[in-house]
Amino acid sequence: MVSLTNNDKRIIVVANRLPVNISIKDDKPVYSPSPGGLVTALSSLKDSYKQEWLGWPGEVDLDIANANEIKEKLNNDFNSHPVFLTKQQVNRYYFGFSNKVLWPIMHYLPSHCDYDERDWKAYKKVNELFAENLLKEIKPSENDLIWIHDYQLMLLPALVREKLPNANIGFFLHTPFPSAEVFRAVPYRDELLKGVLGSSLIGFHTFGYLRHFRSALLRILGLNSEIYSADLENHTVKLGVYPISTDTNQIQELAHSTKIEQNLKQVKQIKRGRKLIISVDRLDYTKGISRRLKGFKKLLDRNPKYASELCMVQIAVPSRTKIASYRRLKDEVEDLVVDINEKYENEKEPPVIYMYKSVSFEKLVSFYKQADIALVTPLCDGMNLVAKEYVAVQKDKGVLILSEFAGAAAELGESVTVNPWNPDAIADALEHALGMMPWEKSRRMSAMFTKVKRNDVHYWSKSFLMDLSKTSEKDQHSNGETIPVNSQISDEILEKYKKAKSPLLLLDYDGTLVNFTSVPMNAKPDKNLLNSLEEINNCNGTEVSIVTGRAKGDIVEWFGDLNFNFSTEHGLWIKMAGEQNWHKTLPDDQHPNWYEEVKEIYSQFCRATPGSFIEEKETSIAWHYRLTDPEFGTLQARELVVNLTNFLANKPAEVMQGKSIVEVRVPGINKGSIISRIQQLDKEYDFMLAIGDDFTDEDLFSAVPEDAVTIKVGKGSSKAKYRLNKVSDVRNFLHKIQAAKS
Ligand code: UDP
Repeated sequence: MVSLTNNDKRIIVVANRLPVNISIKDDKPVYSPSPGGLVTALSSLKDSYKQEWLGWPGEVDLDIANANEIKEKLNNDFNSHPVFLTKQQVNRYYFGFSNKVLWPIMHYLPSHCDYDERDWKAYKKVNELFAENLLKEIKPSENDLIWIHDYQLMLLPALVREKLPNANIGFFLHTPFPSAEVFRAVPYRDELLKGVLGSSLIGFHTFGYLRHFRSALLRILGLNSEIYSADLENHTVKLGVYPISTDTNQIQELAHSTKIEQNLKQVKQIKRGRKLIISVDRLDYTKGISRRLKGFKKLLDRNPKYASELCMVQIAVPSRTKIASYRRLKDEVEDLVVDINEKYENEKEPPVIYMYKSVSFEKLVSFYKQADIALVTPLCDGMNLVAKEYVAVQKDKGVLILSEFAGAAAELGESVTVNPWNPDAIADALEHALGMMPWEKSRRMSAMFTKVKRNDVHYWSKSFLMDLSKTSEKDQHSNGETIPVNSQISDEILEKYKKAKSPLLLLDYDGTLVNFTSVPMNAKPDKNLLNSLEEINNCNGTEVSIVTGRAKGDIVEWFGDLNFNFSTEHGLWIKMAGEQNWHKTLPDDQHPNWYEEVKEIYSQFCRATPGSFIEEKETSIAWHYRLTDPEFGTLQARELVVNLTNFLANKPAEVMQGKSIVEVRVPGINKGSIISRIQQLDKEYDFMLAIGDDFTDEDLFSAVPEDAVTIKVGKGSSKAKYRLNKVSDVRNFLHKIQAAKS
């Protein structure tokens, strides 16, 4: 278990806003702390970790104020480091790309998107500014935990990783992550995903968001991931679910303190003996306020007596008023409120009380305490803290009506859940809540309170940071599987190679010397590769061998003129340098008797799986699904393997599943066959180097002598001793080999 009591470590919180407000009064900056949820979340870790903050300090007129003076004051008094932004940067990065593109996309409302290339440029620029400031002002070390927050800073993790490859970088997304089908509509989706992937740990509120994120990785970047992790070239990213919450104890304390007496009186005056329905939101189109009001109106229309018995308080906190759609929403909501109140104007009091302002937390808790029902119906919401705050105050009374599209619904199953798009359903839910028996209210609310108390905001931050610390330690150990070729190891290998009189290089082709392409025939060797291999082959006795699963024809076409050793079709055909003819490792009469039937099975799968295709070789036949819908292709491949295994039982055939390929081949031949051929020919080498990337290369790693140098390309367990991360690393390594003897 990793302890979170570690005075050497700092938690560096990076968020769009610093927890301090600066305003200018009489030409002087005035500082006022504005502690939000994050400050509370980290308060219980204050004694064990030093905490530092990096963020935008709000609009500061630097023509009047002195940047250095502000910086010093923020550093000294608030452990904060400001990233100063110009007015235009704020407009484009924050109001523009963050809130006019990412916010609506993340909330499934692409119709609210307003793209502007200049906003994206500013978003990139500001993320870069954050990275520069972080590195320059805070100078993080590998011991620190860097915790980056939210959709405004999606590019930052990769920017930091680039400069600090071993940093512990956590990223938490406070919004939902939408279905990949929606996210792919963002023009810069690749950059955004790659940016976030710079993290060591990415946290989401719900498993659903995590699932969507993985699906986006697969569909947009073609990156396969595990449920809780994704392997990248240079590091592993962990994925996790951490639902944010409230400071439940503190809220309970406040709800029972004398501090709120005055506020409670005011709320009672508003209620005037009626039942209170409370709704609290930023005035945002994701919050479903208009449909909620329509739902309330339906309830009154169905039951006019409620007009005098109920009072709905809608607190609408002004938000992003610089954006036109937010201003339009305000008008729409206010018109609806007027509509309802006009319709029921004969009542003593208007049934809807609309407050367009921010209220103090004391006042909010007073409303929660007095409310018989909390009506929380966002169309889409990452979590929704209002719902949890209401539960934290009520403890064992009241009814929570909660949108199925709020992240909180994943935890608060005892609420009355509702489809917020449907005003009729909202009216039904209100009727249900109003008729609910006290014992049932108590049963539901107590169950929710237990959860909100146990998984409070302190648990949220601790569990995330705990996992972030573990990630880095685990990552270091997991490298033990195959040893990364660092400069020292590389020098040692090259030294051995230099001394050797007859070295042999055994090189896989696809995924090792060249990257995969969607159409296999497009993965031709480039000039650079051909020159490099040819030069190595001509170097003092070195023999280059291409050891591939590809058909002989491809290799003859691409390398036919070169005097290399070749092993194709997983060892079926071998031709050593200087030999005129190809040697077949199976007798001629061994044409597989299952071949045509397997081809027929493949054909059926091709028809049912758009984008898949068949590759025919002499004694093997492959079904490729690289061009299919990735999830469907993988499912179909699994199904195909089951079919083939049944069909081929007791037949001389092997079924293999590789990277987007299912292949059936004659058993007994594999990439290790070239070693048997070498023995047959009595050839001797005093140095062997084998490099390959997938499971078929494992046969080669097993077949080479123990003192051979074996290198796997990419992560994952392997019989190879060493690891290079990607094709470009292999190519660089080959250049070193080339240079070693020349
Ligand atoms: N809140 C506030 N002042 C108000 C109304 C609400 O500080 O006048 C707080 C409320 O207590 C809650 C937060 O604003 O903690 C709203 O969080 P939520 O997750 O519900 O929505 P968000 O605004 O983050 O989308």
